[in-house]
Amino acid sequence: MITELWYSAPGNLEEALQLLQEDPPYLILAGGTDLMVQYYDAREKMGRVLDISRLEELKGVEIGQEKVFLGSLTTHEQIYRNRELQKLTPLLSRAAGTVGATQIRNQGTLGGNLANASPAADLAPPLIALEAKVMLVGPRGERSFNLDEFFSGPGETRKNPEEIIKGVEFPSPRGDFRGVFLKVGQRRAMAIAVASLAIGLTCKNGTCEEIRLACGSVAPVPLRARKTEEILRGKKLEELPVEEAAGQLEKEANPIDDIRGTAEYRSRVLGNLLRKGLQEILSQKGVSANG
Ligand SMILES: Cc1cc2nc3c(=O)[nH]c(=O)nc-3n(C[C@H](O)[C@H](O)[C@H](O)COP(=O)(O)OP(=O)(O)OC[C@H]3O[C@@H](n4cnc5c(N)ncnc54)[C@H](O)[C@@H]3O)c2cc1C
Repeated sequence: MITELWYSAPGNLEEALQLLQEDPPYLILAGGTDLMVQYYDAREKMGRVLDISRLEELKGVEIGQEKVFLGSLTTHEQIYRNRELQKLTPLLSRAAGTVGATQIRNQGTLGGNLANASPAADLAPPLIALEAKVMLVGPRGERSFNLDEFFSGPGETRKNPEEIIKGVEFPSPRGDFRGVFLKVGQRRAMAIAVASLAIGLTCKNGTCEEIRLACGSVAPVPLRARKTEEILRGKKLEELPVEEAAGQLEKEANPIDDIRGTAEYRSRVLGNLLRKGLQEILSQKGVSANG
């Protein structure tokens, strides 16, 4: 059966927001790497598709002394290849480089990765570890959420259907900032995470002054591991209670059994990722927007 598809590709944000107010609402299309996979099951609901890929307002990477802004249409490959991001936020570059394979990375976008709200979304943990805010724009104006509060369940966010993700913003790493992203999948490429972990740590005088831990594929939403952070915060780097923290992280995770692994396996993997990640942190020199 041929289903009629309404398709619109506005050339500016104002026009897009006007269309999004119509009833029934349009479904937003960016790179299509998630949406097109869902197409055959969901085409009845996809009667009206709003292609946002021409919206210049959602494009661009701005790296400032205070803040970094990434437009929602930035692709995984653009994040992965950006030299400044590689230096400043290697955890984010590394995560973007693990998404699918080159074709998917060239097509899939940051905004789509976050809006799709998979617990395994690879960009969510590093961005949470970088203290990112997600910026939304809608017919009633703009608002933002801390990324660790944006996801409300598998496939669900606090975004309204008529709102577009404009981009993400996070403080430019300063001082002795160190970051790691680690992912375990069933293969080296084209693999959704069995478990992933991002660590963002700021060191001062040899002490872990601030730490943010974010995990993928071990809870219904990308998980910020606050109790584990508490164990590590304020400790001398060479005296980090790694085993206590790994044990706590395994408890803090809330994974499920699925075709990629059992809940028990995922928790064990996560504890090991923390051990490995902290080891890597100790060997890093730290990065800073201020040189
Ligand atoms: C073979 C394959 C391998 C993959 N491997 C990985 C992987 O390893 N890791 C990983 O994390 N993901 C992976 N993915 C998933 C996918 O590529 C990413 O989630 C991608 O970033 C989605 O972006 P998109 O632009 O293609 O989104 P789309 O498919 O266009 O949209 C996805 C969802 O987000 C909404 N949306 C898109 N942009 C916006 C916006 N700006 N504002 C509001 N809503 C928006 C859409 O309405 C839709 O609900 C894979 C996908 C495939 C097909």
